Amino acid sequence: MKKSNRLCLVLGDQLSFDLASLQGLNKNRDTILLVEVMEEASHVPHHPQKIILIFSAMRHFAEALRQQGFQVQYVTLDDPKNSGTVKGELQRWQALTHSDEIHITECGDWRLEHALKDCGLAIQWHPDSRFLCTRTEFSDWAKGKKQLRMEFFYREMRRKSGLLLNGDGSPVGGAWNFDADNRKALPKGVIPPSPARFKPDAITQDVLALVAEHFSSHYGSFDTFDYPVTHADAQALWEYFLDWGLAAFGDYQDAMASDEPFLFHARISAALNIGLLDLRQLCRGVESAYWAHRIPLNAAEGFIRQLIGWREYVRGVYWLKMPDYAGGNLFGNNRPLPAFYWTGNTQMKCMSQAIGQSLKHAYAHHIQRLMVTGNFALLAGITPTQICDWYLAIYMDAFDWVELPNTLGMVMHADGGYLGSKPYCASGQYIKRMSDYCRTCVYKVSESTTDDACPFNSLYWHFLMRHADLLRSNQRLGMVYKNLDRMTEPKQQALWNRGQELLARLDAGESL
Ligand code: FAD
Ligand code: SF4
Repeated sequence: MKKSNRLCLVLGDQLSFDLASLQGLNKNRDTILLVEVMEEASHVPHHPQKIILIFSAMRHFAEALRQQGFQVQYVTLDDPKNSGTVKGELQRWQALTHSDEIHITECGDWRLEHALKDCGLAIQWHPDSRFLCTRTEFSDWAKGKKQLRMEFFYREMRRKSGLLLNGDGSPVGGAWNFDADNRKALPKGVIPPSPARFKPDAITQDVLALVAEHFSSHYGSFDTFDYPVTHADAQALWEYFLDWGLAAFGDYQDAMASDEPFLFHARISAALNIGLLDLRQLCRGVESAYWAHRIPLNAAEGFIRQLIGWREYVRGVYWLKMPDYAGGNLFGNNRPLPAFYWTGNTQMKCMSQAIGQSLKHAYAHHIQRLMVTGNFALLAGITPTQICDWYLAIYMDAFDWVELPNTLGMVMHADGGYLGSKPYCASGQYIKRMSDYCRTCVYKVSESTTDDACPFNSLYWHFLMRHADLLRSNQRLGMVYKNLDRMTEPKQQALWNRGQELLARLDAGESL
């Protein structure tokens, strides 16, 4: 009897040797397929460095699999026979290899998974075991709950993983969460480590040339690419962070500083999301550093919370709520994304810093994404799909399952508060407290209604006034509305007028 032969499609964010669909392959009969396709690289104008990372890491991974004795077919972007879509390449290679079984690990993107499920081939799907929580486990946990809370989900994940627990199952340090100890601004004289850099090798140089040829119209720099593209280099990036970044991560997780794009952040999200690093190994590394007294508890707990709390939680929400989730627009926003999001040409120092470094490095850390570029989009009423597409395009770590809930849910509150209990709206005072940006900004953070007043201040109150019908009843905003009500009517009117003026300038296509 003829033995069946498998075709195993590995996507660009599935570059893990222990990927479920790669297990049990026969090195003589089965084929692993990796494809570089135009549709995935351009359905939004992805940052060139993101395309470089994924194509180069795919080529390195294919090479490593070949060295392990697997049969690998690799389709480059400029292959004349390349159909341009994952679905087209899967159909073409199924016919070429006469495979009678197709194996794929579940996708990170609803759009792609849906397209593959619709391609007319019988596919054997494998769960993505690189995550701690399966899609089904999450939906079981969410069942019957009107509103979800990350904090309760996170406790479940701590119990499931056993991370930072005492022998009796209680949390180390007597609390599950040390968030309140993660909010220091950066004091003068504290110097963050210089970022670990990885020089492009010959494979990456080839990809750089390919991307320069095909994607020069996409926004973002090419020549600053210094990111790891192999498992070994990603591990070196992680170890560098363990040695130099993690101890201070806890204190300065929310801090922002001029011309310091990385501070004490790990920069590992892109490597983790495409499979060059392993979630469980990262968590064990952090826990060991804590037990070895190398890092304080607020750093260990804070980092583990991001990984097994927020990261798993947003993925769970994505798969529970897609595809309707992507269309959420609670506030009915319809303002186009201002052009300066693509250039950084704005006088607002905080925005020009966050956007500028995103264009240069395809990176901004969490608080810049949430409280600067995201906060501005929320206050200015930007159309959710447009700001979501911007985040998906601009960040090296952006994949639909993680970008969409963070942007549409956490930042824009467009899902009606399903992911987060209140919008993260803030005035310029928050940015002043957490950064040095305001010191050298042309706008005055102490002013709200004058011509040179910080735009965030009036837009903040304008946002609260124009959505009072939806937000006033939110208990977590009770104090804020009390403050608004205490203002004199002329003060409220002046804030409204300044907000109107700024929004009209955005509508006229002006930068601020
Ligand atoms: P660190 O600050 O060192 O944090 C450690 C790790 O925790 C990260 O590498 C990441 O894997 C994880 N993490 C932390 N917060 C989150 C979160 N909210 N959701 C998921 N993982 C988290 N992260 C992405 O990986 N891809 C995205 O597309 C993405 N889009 C975002 C969009 C917005 C609007 C916001 C507010 C956040 C977004 N995040 C996204 C989360 C977070 O900003 C990045 O994970 C982080 O900045 C990556 O940098 P780092 O590796 O230096 O992280
Ligand atoms: Fe940003 Fe306002 Fe501060 Fe300027 S003054 S950096 S616009 S918060």
